[in-house]
Amino acid sequence: MTRKTRVRFAPSPTGPLHMGGVRTALYNYLFAKQRGGDFIIRIEDTDSQRFVPGAEKYIIEALNWCGIVPDEGVDAAGNVVETASERHPHAPYRQSQRKPIYRQYAEQLVENGYAYYAFDTAEELGAKRAEMEANGQTFIYGQTTRMGLRNSLCMPEAEVKELLETRTDWTIRFKMPENRVVKMDDLIRGHVEVNTSTLDDKVLWKRADELPTYHLANIVDDHLMEITEVIRGEEWLPSLPLHYLLYEAFGWTDTQPRFAHLSLLLKPDGKGKLSKRDGDRLGFPVFPLQWTNAEGEVSRGYREDGYFPEAFVNLLAMLGWNPGTEQELFTLEELIGTFSLERVIKSGARFNADKAKWYNKEYLRKKSVSELTDLYMPILESKGINATREYVEKVVGLIKERATFVADFWDIAPYLFVAPTEFVEKDAAKFWKEENYTLALKAADFILAFEGEFTPEGLGAPLEEYIRSNEWPMGKVMNCLRLAMVGGSNGLGIADIVTLIGKEEFARRIEYIKSKLC
Ligand code: GLU
Repeated sequence: MTRKTRVRFAPSPTGPLHMGGVRTALYNYLFAKQRGGDFIIRIEDTDSQRFVPGAEKYIIEALNWCGIVPDEGVDAAGNVVETASERHPHAPYRQSQRKPIYRQYAEQLVENGYAYYAFDTAEELGAKRAEMEANGQTFIYGQTTRMGLRNSLCMPEAEVKELLETRTDWTIRFKMPENRVVKMDDLIRGHVEVNTSTLDDKVLWKRADELPTYHLANIVDDHLMEITEVIRGEEWLPSLPLHYLLYEAFGWTDTQPRFAHLSLLLKPDGKGKLSKRDGDRLGFPVFPLQWTNAEGEVSRGYREDGYFPEAFVNLLAMLGWNPGTEQELFTLEELIGTFSLERVIKSGARFNADKAKWYNKEYLRKKSVSELTDLYMPILESKGINATREYVEKVVGLIKERATFVADFWDIAPYLFVAPTEFVEKDAAKFWKEENYTLALKAADFILAFEGEFTPEGLGAPLEEYIRSNEWPMGKVMNCLRLAMVGGSNGLGIADIVTLIGKEEFARRIEYIKSKLC
């Protein structure tokens, strides 16, 4: 029987979602949508010590911003979303709300001999660890040590029974089988085998807070939620043998999901995992949205830095996957059509900040002038600029090709909104020479008297023709005019500037530079 594809993204709300986490969610989403399956968001919040308020909301908001919307899961307001089916048997999607589910599963493993009760206190374990370390050994709770510790494998039944009733700090641990080779298959890495001899007896459930640990909750929920593929970060690969053995212990191997472990996102130099520190040091965000931690420290986000979500999604998709063609620009829809786990690379993917910017520039170019104007208007307003939409559209049309972010629009040509009051000294010294500016002022008169169509195309050629026919030095004359319009020698073409700001403003700027520099 073929099962409906159901994959999940299962973040722990321990802080803001790293861009690597967004990539994991994205690959899950693409995989599901390509197969007409369900994409589920499950919040793994059973570790109360690492819980960070606001992190869950952040994660959902970040995924929403990217357009990675779940069929089932939790929305930003904390409500259950379930668009996939009418009545959902899988809710709730937050593990803390599923608390009563897990104990029976842990107990079932004890009954069947796959797990045991452990009563060692933290102090006892600490002492044991210290004792072994003093002898140059490392302590793990497992096959070589368990029989000398305090647990139901080696204590009299009556004592176990009594401790279970009287104490509230015991745990249930998995009994790792001895010397077994666990044979596993990974959709990205292929066949992997691990001998259990080095693996410890992980805690599965804790009486103290009556909560499961990650391993138990993860397996039980993947089973109950009918997950068909687990696509997650490679940091979980070492847990895979335990997960295989848990499926076996529960008797769920028939419906065990297939696994795919994604390689890490690497620093730009390829040496190690991409961290927030790299972002701070090299000037790029590693989080999708801005995040302020409890100490009030702000980490930058792609959204606030001016990235378009489509660009962010596209660049993430390409960090670790290649389509096998030269194509680099993909919409989410196109990614759904083309993505495949077979083309996910095994090695780590190096992050490249310039490439990230390139994606944004490409998406900016694709946007309509009207859409970009919508984004630029509020920026202008915040600067106290009062310009008509019609005017701003013309400006945007003229400069969009030069920008990477909408915020660049201002820096590219502030002089289209405010007249220069100062002149770059070096440029003025170089260009504003009497033999040049007397000619430029005559060219200005030509512009003011020009009666043809006052557009860049209408004015541009006649102006050049006028300068050329007088045998004046083109560059020098133009640079004098540019100095008057811009305040320096870098800027748009004279005909572009002049026809935008209009004759009146042009005349004002000419008078101003004369009053200052002549
Ligand atoms: N809660 C785990 C995490 O935050 C999920 C790992 C998994 O997908 O199995 O990474």
